[in-house]
Amino acid sequence: MNAALPVEVLKQHLIDPEICIRCNTCEETCPIDAITHDSNNYVVDPDICNGCMACVPPCPTGSIDNWRLVVRTEAYSLQDQLGWDELPREQPLPEAAGAAPAEADATLAPAPAAAVAIPSAAPGASVPPWSAAHPYVNLYTHKTPVTATVVGNYRVTGADTDSDIHHIVLDFGELPFPVLEGQSIGILPPGADAQGRPHHARQYSLASPRDGERAGYNNLSLTVKRVTEDHQGQSAHGVCSNYLCDLAKNDTVQVIGPFGHTFLMPNHPRANLIMICTGTGSAPMRAMTERYRRRIETGENGRLLLFFGARTERELPYFGPLMKLPRDFIDINLALSREAGQPKRYVQDLIRERAAAVRELLADRNTCIYVCGLKGMEVGVLDALREVTMQAGQDWTILHDVLRREGRLHFETY
Ligand code: NAP
Repeated sequence: MNAALPVEVLKQHLIDPEICIRCNTCEETCPIDAITHDSNNYVVDPDICNGCMACVPPCPTGSIDNWRLVVRTEAYSLQDQLGWDELPREQPLPEAAGAAPAEADATLAPAPAAAVAIPSAAPGASVPPWSAAHPYVNLYTHKTPVTATVVGNYRVTGADTDSDIHHIVLDFGELPFPVLEGQSIGILPPGADAQGRPHHARQYSLASPRDGERAGYNNLSLTVKRVTEDHQGQSAHGVCSNYLCDLAKNDTVQVIGPFGHTFLMPNHPRANLIMICTGTGSAPMRAMTERYRRRIETGENGRLLLFFGARTERELPYFGPLMKLPRDFIDINLALSREAGQPKRYVQDLIRERAAAVRELLADRNTCIYVCGLKGMEVGVLDALREVTMQAGQDWTILHDVLRREGRLHFETY
């Protein structure tokens, strides 16, 4: 008669605020809108999350993969989670629930899918190419950042243009900071936000290959655009981009990371890369291209096909060095949208124009595709890829699934 009533146990999905870099990937990936955020934290609604795991593989830090067994009626609320600086410790369950934790896990908690399901909304792969090298992630966190020294900072767009894009080189001295092309790092800007809390880290893709901006040095480079307006064109001051663009040689910077375990390049000989980017989304493409350029003599390289969008030639970062690369090394296609006297072109227009070359590479299982830059290009690029595939009588839906499953189609858009 005195036996405790059984209580419903929930395996609650939580995000670790200490590791999360607020990149928005989880919120974008969640197929049922269970993830939201405020200026402090990304949080999971316990009333909506069904534990489908779709958000877990794309998270570049692993901060998304945290779970606590709780009594369902006492689940951490959104309000609780928004106020956290760190995850709460695991609490013992009351006896009535503790009697059958395994059962609770299996029947009451939203069961994580055995094989990770790729939600239809995710345009890219959640696994790296099979031959990608093993990445290190989270070596340095918000609590344990590493100090890097600025050894170079210069503008890579025409001085007469509004696009103030900088190439910034950071050196790590004796401290280990192993990276791969396609990975990113977090920069902790000094100072505090309007609520007096230290600024969160801002994420930037590497623009240099794994062996350093200068081969053999423990350094790396970033491509940073000074943000002076928001996506709607309203005046806005980018906290971290302005901080970075104004750094002088020998200044020091707090860095966390590295991050990213899927947007990685293939590591096997004769792998082809189709690279599609806009503006500063060119950073990982520069890193991958430079990796290939440094081994040009080895005969290991596959083909490189680049689609690069910018407003004008003078606003296209690294235009000069890019155009000096040998044409038999990289096939360069520039889509300029605001060049005087020329029709407006986007990368997806050029993909259609180069349909034969794109199709030939798509037919080769050694080809991986990388898309980086403006969020808006995602749909346009997918439509263009669908069109060029269907022109050849192929089914894009099938090919798209294969590319995702084999880790051969990757997106990093903001
Ligand atoms: P941007 O100068 O605003 O745009 C670059 C080009 O893309 C312009 O020609 C623009 O044309 C065109 N464009 C606009 N909408 C498009 C669409 N729907 N489809 C295809 N092309 C389109 O680029 P940005 O300011 O450098 O921004 C690049 C983006 O990359 C940012 O969102 C940034 O967050 C992201 N990113 C940066 C890094 C990094 O490490 N720095 C890494 C990853 C991603 P019009 O404006 O003339 O229409």
